[in-house]
Amino acid sequence: MTRSQTAILAAFLAGSLLLGGCATVTTNTSHTFQTVVVDAGHGGKDSGAYRRNAPPEKVVALDVALRVNRKLQESQLHTVLTRSNDTFIPLDSRVALGNQQKNSIFVSIHFNDSRRGAVQGVETYYYSPHAFDLASKIERNLATLPGTANRGVHTARFRVLRNAQYPSVLVECGYLSNRSSARAAADAGYREQLADKIAEAIVDYRYGDGVYRRTPAVLARAGSGGASFLPSFR
Ligand code: ZN
Repeated sequence: MTRSQTAILAAFLAGSLLLGGCATVTTNTSHTFQTVVVDAGHGGKDSGAYRRNAPPEKVVALDVALRVNRKLQESQLHTVLTRSNDTFIPLDSRVALGNQQKNSIFVSIHFNDSRRGAVQGVETYYYSPHAFDLASKIERNLATLPGTANRGVHTARFRVLRNAQYPSVLVECGYLSNRSSARAAADAGYREQLADKIAEAIVDYRYGDGVYRRTPAVLARAGSGGASFLPSFR
């Protein structure tokens, strides 16, 4: 390698290090997006939150993500899943896949864990200011589920948020460390409702309030009281 080549390499490495240390500047696609990258947290060797009496986070996160994915497709949005089965996908690969999708947003689905068993409720995270409104809408929508505490919208430097080129939101759908919330998460009907709230927030945010149409299955459940599968959170 010549001296000038070494200089170029050194400059390139310095630039990469700098970029690696800084958050990516996002393109604001929050009002134009046609594609939603749906990211099911964890997978494979990474179980995420894992409590004895609850399904592992990777399982329930995937289930909710697949439901969100289907609902968005039914609403004519293009979707990309970062995983559709129980595989380990590194965080950087998830981000890279998201960044490859032009005019997209990124939505990551997780469940939470706390050492304090009484803690329950939903939280939504963002990093780019362009993702704040969508994060708020998802949070508000999820908090309308009976007995679900609204634990707010927060900024976080999670990799899937910080390195995303497009608006990116991470949703914590509930605490698996809370007995009632874990029981709820284990219930397919409840996961369908979680997915419905997330999909509704995304579709209405993009196309206007009231645009989202619930599938007949969800409507039927809501009409028949729905409480049969909703645990008491008291
Ligand atoms: Zn997680």
